Amino acid sequence: MRYRVASFSMCALAFLSVHPATASECVYGGNVLGVSRVLHVDTSDGPQFGTLQYEQTLDLEPNEVVLTFDDGPHPYTTQRVLEALAKECVKATFFPVGAHAERHPEILQSIADEGHTIGAHTWSHRNIRRLSKAHAAKQIERGFRAVSAAVDIQIAPFFRFPGLNDSKAMSTYAGRQGYAVFSIDVNSDDWRGIGPRTIIRRTMARLKRQKGGIILFHDTKYATAAALPAFLKLLKRDGYRIVHIVPKQTYDSLLSAKAGRPEAATLADLAGPGKPESNNKVRTVQR
Ligand SMILES: [Zn+2]
Repeated sequence: MRYRVASFSMCALAFLSVHPATASECVYGGNVLGVSRVLHVDTSDGPQFGTLQYEQTLDLEPNEVVLTFDDGPHPYTTQRVLEALAKECVKATFFPVGAHAERHPEILQSIADEGHTIGAHTWSHRNIRRLSKAHAAKQIERGFRAVSAAVDIQIAPFFRFPGLNDSKAMSTYAGRQGYAVFSIDVNSDDWRGIGPRTIIRRTMARLKRQKGGIILFHDTKYATAAALPAFLKLLKRDGYRIVHIVPKQTYDSLLSAKAGRPEAATLADLAGPGKPESNNKVRTVQR
């Protein structure tokens, strides 16, 4: 089943001038990959996206691709990733680690300035399954707070579990908080220490098999930064189209709503002995 979300064509968005991801902003000429359309994601019922782990993914057409980058910002590689995306007028979604955002707020602000979507990926990239529920919730919330504080835009209530290591309890928690949980449809394997050519070959093969979907990259990897220019050219050559996902609600709007809603999930709900939880049904990916 595919989760239904509203979408608008790039033409409509360009006309309304409501989003920065318009083709007119591209300064690199016409022969670029560009953004095909913007997909507005409603997080209000705590959806989970990505066929690697969940039954549903984003409402994508065949050969539509959503680029995601985890674990940054990184002082050497994130800027190279941003340059590669800018040269093709492409917008992506970043899932930064809170501690990295606090250390390099200027890099995270560059991501925001480029018009990319920014979610969160916990405070320090701990394996949620090995933490008590209260500790896991603190990791999630501190991550969101740190990322939000590092940039002057309102970030998305989009969350990705480190290593994709979700748990039933924390997935429920994230859903009650109004966060959308993002797994993946296509793995690039860039966290395995492979080179740019192998990243490109594996990702293109999997994209072909899956007919598009959410791709997992890491903007902390040199090989990924090196692979990206050629990879984006191949996407264009092979007819893939980039979808930029943006949230219907912002992280800040959820915080404001929770302030007047005492029944919302809070850390207090999760206090207590709360054993670490495992979920063996889910494939484990390192990052
Ligand atoms: Zn990660």
